[in-house]
Parts: sequence; structure tokens; C-alpha cells
Amino acid sequence: MTSSVNSMKKLTWSSPYAVLLCLAVVAIADLVIWRVQMPYLVEAVFDEPAHAATGLLVLFAICVAPSRPVILAVLAGSVLIDLDHVPHVFGITILEHGVPRPYTHALITLIAIGLVAGLVRDRRLRMLVLIVGAAVAVHLIRDMAEPGGPGVSLLWPLSDHPYAMPYVPYGLALVALAAVGIARRRTAPTPATDSAV
Ligand SMILES: [Zn+2]
Repeated sequence: MTSSVNSMKKLTWSSPYAVLLCLAVVAIADLVIWRVQMPYLVEAVFDEPAHAATGLLVLFAICVAPSRPVILAVLAGSVLIDLDHVPHVFGITILEHGVPRPYTHALITLIAIGLVAGLVRDRRLRMLVLIVGAAVAVHLIRDMAEPGGPGVSLLWPLSDHPYAMPYVPYGLALVALAAVGIARRRTAPTPATDSAV
């Protein structure tokens, strides 16, 4: 009974439909954000699922059946960095003087995560920390690709200059990742957790 339940969970994550669902989440969220003017917090309701789905699309292209800790690490890195916007919601701009997004939306956060990973002795935990860092990097790419968005001051504190990129390469990259993820799932012999962590 337990093994059949476990296999169903693995089938869920290893299904091509999981990949299609993530792509649909990003497409619908970005269409709504692009076409509808909405308050800051309401936009977050659409943007955060799209961040999570973007991270999962990268993961699903790499792993056919990622383990639950890996999925949670990707979701954490994809979404939790936006907690640095919370002060802004309350009118506090202490984290964003001269930059379009809070200071922690920068490469310095990736460096900090890398340093933390270097301090972790347990190999599996270190790998999860690195996965969180990779998901944060993907988050920053999506932020840079926000249509008409203010960009990301990647090099803060060395520079306040905001970097942005067109949406089309980001969108095409997600479609390509989804295609890889679906193709890998259709050719995988048996769903199995193929992550070491
Ligand atoms: Zn962000």
C-alpha cells in the first residue's frame, strides 16, 4: 500500500503533464501581468507561482523524478528571495535606495549562498544549499526579463546599474526546457528518483 502511494507521488512529479502545467502557469501569469494593471500585492499573486514554475521547469529538464527535498529547495530558492520586498509593502525603502529591487536581488546573495554551502559539512545538505542558490539565480533571470520591468542591480554594492533582458529569450528558453523535460519523461523507462539528495 505504502509503496503504491509512493510510486503515485513519483509518477506525479515525473509526468509530462507536470512540465506542461508549469509552462501554462508561467504563460497565464505573464499574460495577466502584461495585460492587466494591478496593485503590487495582487501582481505578486501571479508572479510568485510563475517564479516557482520557472524554477521547476529548469529542474524538470535536468531530473525526470527529483526527490522531494530537491523540489522543496528549488521552490524555496525560487520564491523566498522575494521576502526582501516585504519592507516595501509597508512603505519602508531601507533595502532599495537607488536600486529598483532590494539589495539582496544581486549576485552578492549568490556568493553568500555559495559561502554557506562551503561551510556545510554534510554532502547532501550542501547540495541542497547549492540548489537553492541555483534557483535564486533563475529567479533573478526571470526578474530581469520582466516586460517593461526596472531590471535588477546585479552588481550591487559595486554598482547600482540595473540589468534587464528581453522577455522573448526567457520565454523561448522555458519552451525549450519544457520540450526537454517532456521528451525525457516520454523516453524514461521507469519513474524513479534520480537525484542523489
Ligand atoms: Zn524577485
